[in-house]
Amino acid sequence: MAETAGTTGTTGAGATGTGAVTNWARTVTYAARAFHRPRTPEELAALVAGNARVRTLGSGHSFNRIADPGPEGVLVSTAGLPQTIDVDTAARTVRVSGGVRYAELARTVHAHGLALPNMASLPHISVAGSVATGTHGSGVTNGPLASAVREVEMVVADGTTETIGRDDARFGGVVTSLGALGVVTALTLDLEPAYGVEQRVYTELPLDGLDFETVAAAGYSVSLFTDWRRPGFRQVWVKRRTDRPAVDFPWAAPATEPLHPVPGMPAANCTEQLGVPGPWHERLPHFRAEFTPSSGEEIQSEYLLPRPAALDALHAIDGIRETVAGVLQTCEVRTVAADPQWLSPAHGRDSVALHFTWVKDEAAVLPVVRRLEEVLEPFDPRPHWGKVFRIPPAVLRGRYARFADFRDLVRALDPSGTFANAFVRDLLDR
Ligand SMILES: Cc1cc2nc3c(=O)[nH]c(=O)nc-3n(C[C@H](O)[C@H](O)[C@H](O)COP(=O)(O)OP(=O)(O)OC[C@H]3O[C@@H](n4cnc5c(N)ncnc54)[C@H](O)[C@@H]3O)c2cc1C
Repeated sequence: MAETAGTTGTTGAGATGTGAVTNWARTVTYAARAFHRPRTPEELAALVAGNARVRTLGSGHSFNRIADPGPEGVLVSTAGLPQTIDVDTAARTVRVSGGVRYAELARTVHAHGLALPNMASLPHISVAGSVATGTHGSGVTNGPLASAVREVEMVVADGTTETIGRDDARFGGVVTSLGALGVVTALTLDLEPAYGVEQRVYTELPLDGLDFETVAAAGYSVSLFTDWRRPGFRQVWVKRRTDRPAVDFPWAAPATEPLHPVPGMPAANCTEQLGVPGPWHERLPHFRAEFTPSSGEEIQSEYLLPRPAALDALHAIDGIRETVAGVLQTCEVRTVAADPQWLSPAHGRDSVALHFTWVKDEAAVLPVVRRLEEVLEPFDPRPHWGKVFRIPPAVLRGRYARFADFRDLVRALDPSGTFANAFVRDLLDR
């Protein structure tokens, strides 16, 4: 296979010395028979129409085999296609190529005096790849990144382009699509006027007596971090919009210096803290675009549960704290507002998202993932589609009220399974 241009760190999908293509974390080597980086829409259309099995690669920040076409298929990167970002200031929308990363999108949108409603913890990820897996930030009133999407353009199996907007009955399946419908070439997103954000970190918040709802609503975006080595939270990151009234945070002490959520990592990699106001896109992500996000040596898992279950779920994890802590770098607790996308892990329910950055040791981590899933089972967890989980597909199918609609949509748009890989076939039971 030809090498990708990317390397790990601040970019994305990597390439080993042998030319094999890997994900950003280098925990997955894609088993594709060929890797393509088309330069024009015509080249892309011919590739899709001319191959029986195709999967699209975004920036490669997923931790499982969701993007892997398998040995029979070809992997197509959108990174070489013309990357456009067209802002319509009057309509307050932006039409962006699927392979563009949020860092670049956010800078351009901000330069037009406009903003996205929210961002994930890192701006390094591609727009199409992020919304395909239900990627989210935090905030009790903020849906996942997919909730800003109003239209999707994609190259479908016969090489033609389909454009599906919010007024189309199929729209609920086409944004968080797991890459199963086609190659997304462009998305149109809703924008709002640019706003400022100030970010403060607080330390040592007890779990006992925690009023989760009030703490989670104490900012526009709130994240709680713990290593589970002791009960309670080591850090709480509160991002407040400067155009909204300030809310007190009396439950923990403000940090006196900038902090990184992973113990031992440099705070210089993180966005500015200590309450210094700045533009939305330089505060909503935890990590700066020009530095390696998170730890760089890791595996991740995440589960979305109904938000009213947050406290019970946190106490349940506290009950296996030592097991979790043994392979954990950091655990982040966020909130995500309900999302209409059929396969969104936040579909139809305001959610709490329990995220785990594990050590990069699959053999040690997987038994803990299974144990964690047992403990979370009573709370109906839906895993992040781009992270490591072991909940069986048959169980997952039952957790999505519109699952059958998604399966019908896949059959209609991709009857011969061009965009199916093992991940999608298992999930759809196809
Ligand atoms: C350090 C780190 C921090 C993270 N933080 C967060 C976070 O804060 N919140 C969160 O929710 N997640 C987070 N994630 C997970 C990440 O957002 C998701 O894995 C996301 O899918 C990454 O986008 P990508 O472009 O890298 O996708 P890829 O891994 O490249 O692909 C993911 C899926 O999208 C499909 N896809 C990609 N591009 C296209 C396209 N153009 N058309 C059709 N399908 C496409 C692929 O086929 C695949 O199925 C984090 C990951 C890392 C590594």
